[in-house]
Amino acid sequence: MSAKPKKKITAIKGTKDILPSEARKWQKVESVAREIFELYGYREIRTPVFEATELFEKGTGETSDVVTKEMYTFLDKGGRSLTLRPEYTPSVVRAILDHSLHLKSQPMRYYFFGPMFRHDKPQKGRYRQFHQIDIEVFGEKDPAIDAEIVEMADFLLKRLNVTDTEILVNSVGCKACRPPYLRELKQAAEAVREDLCPDCQRKIDLNPLRIFDCKEEACREMSQGFPKVTDFLCPDCEEHFKLFCVYLGSYGIAYRLEPRMVRGLDYYTKTTFEIISSKLGAQDAILGGGRYDDMMKEFGGPDICGIGFAMGLERFLSIVPFKEEKESFLYIAFLGDAAKNAGMELARQLRKGGIECLIEYRDRNLKNQMSRANKLGADWVLIIGEDEVKANRYQLKNMETGVQQEVGADDILTFIQKPS
Ligand code: AMP
Repeated sequence: MSAKPKKKITAIKGTKDILPSEARKWQKVESVAREIFELYGYREIRTPVFEATELFEKGTGETSDVVTKEMYTFLDKGGRSLTLRPEYTPSVVRAILDHSLHLKSQPMRYYFFGPMFRHDKPQKGRYRQFHQIDIEVFGEKDPAIDAEIVEMADFLLKRLNVTDTEILVNSVGCKACRPPYLRELKQAAEAVREDLCPDCQRKIDLNPLRIFDCKEEACREMSQGFPKVTDFLCPDCEEHFKLFCVYLGSYGIAYRLEPRMVRGLDYYTKTTFEIISSKLGAQDAILGGGRYDDMMKEFGGPDICGIGFAMGLERFLSIVPFKEEKESFLYIAFLGDAAKNAGMELARQLRKGGIECLIEYRDRNLKNQMSRANKLGADWVLIIGEDEVKANRYQLKNMETGVQQEVGADDILTFIQKPS
C-alpha cells in the first residue's frame, strides 16, 4: 500500500507572513512612528495578546460588529473565556487601572504596535490577524488635544511621504445629546426597515447608530438620508466640536466634515475622525479614532476622559513609498580550513566595528563564492586563502568598481569605511 501523501500545512486564511523582503519597510515605519510619538510625549506600553472576554464586551461594546461577529473567543483549559484582542483601547484602560497609572505624575500618553485579531471576511486590506499602531491619551478634556492628535497623524503621513489622503471629522455627541438623536434615527430607519439587510433590521432595535457601519451597499445608500448626529449636539459637544475644527484650521490642516461617520465601536463620545486614502480600494481607512470619555468610569475607574487612534499597518504600508537604505555589506570568501577560521575571526571583528558580514559555511570554490556575493548584492568581498592567512594580509574587492587590493587585517575596517 502506498503511503498517504502528507497534507501541506499552510497559513490560516486571513493571516499573512511578513517576509524579510518586506520587514525593512515595517521596521522603518515603526521607527519613524516611534520617534514622532516620543516627540509628542507618548511612551510605549505593551499588554498581552489575550484578555478576559468581558473586557472587550464591556469596552468595545456589546452591539458593535467587532464584539457580535468578529471576536476570536475560546475557553482555556481552566474553562475561562478568553479573547484575542480585536482592538487595543480596552486593554490600555485595564492596564492603567491594574497598575494605578492614573495616580502617577507622568502624562498618560501611550503608544503601541502589535497584532489584532478579527474574524471578518478576508479581502484586500482586511485580514483576520492585522497590525495596528495605536495611540491613547487620558485626562485631557481640551479639544486642543483632539486637534494635536490629528496633527501628529498628519505629521507621520508627511514624514513618510504619503500623499492622496483625506481627513474626515465628526462628532457623535455624548450621553446627554445622543438619546434624542437615536430616537430620530430609529424612526428614520424604521420607515425603511424592509429595505435594510436583516443585520441592520436587528440593529434598529439594538443600536441604530451601528447601521452606519454596515458594509452592504443598499444600507449605506439608505443611511445617507438618515438624520445627522451633528444636528443634535448639546451646547457642550457643539462647542467642543467647533473648537476642534478651529484648532485644526490653525494648524493649517484640511479636513472634511463627515456627519455620518460614527466609527464602528460603541464607546466613542464627541470627536471621531478617520484618514482615508484614495490609493486604497474599498477598505480605504488607514486610521480611525476619537474620544472615549466614559470608558474609564465604566470600568469602575475614576472619571478620566480618553482619546486616541489606531492605524492599520498593512493598509498604511501599502501606500508608503519606500526605498531601502542600504548599509555596506561584506561577503567573506574562503578556501580551506585555516582560511575559514581566519574568516570567522575577521567577521567577528568587523561586526564589532559595525560592518554587516556574511560567511556561508559551504564547500564552494572561489568562483562560486564570488558569484554568490554578486547575487546577494555584496559591496565588498574579502578573499582569504592559505597565503593570505600566513601573511595576515587579505584581498579586498570593491564589487562596484571591480578594484581588488591587498589590505592588512587591521586596515579592513578603515578601508571599507573610507575607501581611498
Ligand atoms: P478600528 O479599530 O476598527 O477603528 O480600525 C482602525 C484601523 O485598523 C482601520 O482604519 C484599518 O486601517 C485597520 N483595520 C481594522 N480592521 C482591519 C482588518 N480586519 N484588516 C486590516 N486592517 C484593519
